[in-house]
Amino acid sequence: MDIAANLTRIRAQIDSACRSCGRSPDEVRLIAISKVKPAAMISAAFAAGQERFGESYVQEFRDKAEAVPEPVEWHFVGHLQSNKAKYLRGRVAMIHSVDRLSLAKEIDRQWRRIDEVANVLVQVNIGEEASKSGTGEDQLETLVEQLAALNHVNVCGLMTLPPWCDDPEDVRPYFRRLRQLAEQIDRRDFPGVAMAELSMGMSHDFTVAIEEGATLVRVGTAIFGERPR
Ligand SMILES: *Cc1c(COP(=O)(O)O)cnc(C)c1O
Repeated sequence: MDIAANLTRIRAQIDSACRSCGRSPDEVRLIAISKVKPAAMISAAFAAGQERFGESYVQEFRDKAEAVPEPVEWHFVGHLQSNKAKYLRGRVAMIHSVDRLSLAKEIDRQWRRIDEVANVLVQVNIGEEASKSGTGEDQLETLVEQLAALNHVNVCGLMTLPPWCDDPEDVRPYFRRLRQLAEQIDRRDFPGVAMAELSMGMSHDFTVAIEEGATLVRVGTAIFGERPR
């Protein structure tokens, strides 16, 4: 597994996707999703210039945050139980997976204790899949409005994990929909809410996501190799 070569290739793909749709590559940040992979791989990626990493499981995040000596920027992208939010407190740059008020209230409570503000994204279940977390489209605006009232939670945008499609082109409508939802919310002018970030796109569809406006792409397999099933 040549992590440095993979990162070089992916950065080139990000650049060319940006160029093809007239965006600046500065608008897109790559998050290396390192779940299930050892801490040494994170260090190797960091040595190759990758600073942002995403984890999906709280216990694994805690172990790796201990084990990785480099000053990496952590993102949490997995399903989060409210009673585990405290383990992320002050240690992650962003939580991508806030999908209910009860969780946001607990994050608010925890970050208040350190007098900081948690940056969060609202996860939307665009495909309305029973197997996936995320708020439904119909509850989204109400949830964002409720989150806007929490002083220690800063809503930065939306995230989605669309249905799996073999052809990345088939995912495009879901990415486009997420962007439309963000634009709709921006028009509501909820106090303190600006939909600056769209976290969408994974290993096999991140170039399509960039064409549809992604600002954060979450890439695991294409950097670190296949995960065991
Ligand atoms: C695992 C994971 C990814 C990375 O998926 P790849 O297909 O390996 O790039 C991205 N986002 C979330 C939320 C994940 O859980």
